[in-house]
Amino acid sequence: MTIRVQNVSEPDVHVQDSQYDIGEEQIERIFECFPLEVKDRKVLVKPNLLGLFTPDKAVTTHPSLVRSVVQCLKRRGACVTVGDNPGLRGYGDNERIARFTGIHDAVEDCYQNIAKRSTQVTLKNRRNDSVLVSTAVLESDLIVSLPKLKTHMLTQITCGIKNTFGYLVGGEKTKLHSLSHAGRDFCETIVDVFSIRPPDLTIVDAVVAMQGSGPSAGDPREIGKLYAGRDAVLVDLFTAGLIGVPPERLHQLHIAKERGLLSKTVEALKIEGSWKPVQNFAMPSTFKSAVGHRFFSTLGSLIRWGTKLEADHDKCIKCGLCAKQCPVEAIKMNPYPEFGKGCITCYCCHEICPHGAIHESGLMRYPRKLWAKT
Ligand code: SF4
Ligand code: SF4
Repeated sequence: MTIRVQNVSEPDVHVQDSQYDIGEEQIERIFECFPLEVKDRKVLVKPNLLGLFTPDKAVTTHPSLVRSVVQCLKRRGACVTVGDNPGLRGYGDNERIARFTGIHDAVEDCYQNIAKRSTQVTLKNRRNDSVLVSTAVLESDLIVSLPKLKTHMLTQITCGIKNTFGYLVGGEKTKLHSLSHAGRDFCETIVDVFSIRPPDLTIVDAVVAMQGSGPSAGDPREIGKLYAGRDAVLVDLFTAGLIGVPPERLHQLHIAKERGLLSKTVEALKIEGSWKPVQNFAMPSTFKSAVGHRFFSTLGSLIRWGTKLEADHDKCIKCGLCAKQCPVEAIKMNPYPEFGKGCITCYCCHEICPHGAIHESGLMRYPRKLWAKT
């Protein structure tokens, strides 16, 4: 059971200026703002450990944030576990990825491969009624989620809500990707997984975020902010304001509102700390602009037909990781990846490629890029 120290005067979101490394004093300010009763309680710290990416790539949560959060929790007497389920089939690679991202060394004995034990839980979802969740998630008294703010080719952004998709062990993600292909459909699933166990505190690493073709092949974008809140939906609402995107245009927030999980506007948020919208934050080419949204809504089938992926042979090292991750086995290595007709444009291969070698091709690539900027 979760124990929270409620304070009616606390803000929805606390924001502070930050650089790397993120120090413990910064995290102390967040815990002062959002107190948690953690003594002798099991606390799961959930960073974004997407794949084999070093911290300078701005793909994974910065290890200094994870380290400082763990130290502050330990000082308060918490029993801390740090873990995530990276990738789609990442059971065996879990520890290797944790080491690659610098997070394993940052938290030492607190790291755990949370993919090793899983429990079947009911999912309120129109395409699937149960999923395998890491048992560590269900056994924790408290969850502190540490997302990295990034764009996402399939889900538009990945931040507070989306970080909880890592509750699912690898094979389950594969299944859900193959059941719900389109961006909005998949975002429904994300919100359903989030609803299994919303985190108790979300602290976002937006010191260096990712814009453009995220969540792994985009461009690092320095924002210089660390922000936090108890309600991850409100944290994501703030994110929309920060990156200058109308919240109703983000599927995850739109769906959260439909489900009764969001009743505020950015203007109504109680925010502690100074901030202003980031200028010209680049959304992915798949993000639908005001013009593109109407066009894409009308001609959705054309888009799917027109969207193709290809590997840049100058960047690709023929490692085959993309083929292993594809949920519908649409990639054949020959010797470079070849993308077959069965592709459901889930962008998992694009996400997992450590070399940013996969990009869009096909007829829709130019209009997408144009519309993404309008
Ligand atoms: S595209 Fe990326 S993941 Fe796929 S084989 Fe090439 S380097 Fe590996
Ligand atoms: S080829 Fe890539 S985008 Fe297509 S289904 Fe496989 S992983 Fe998804």
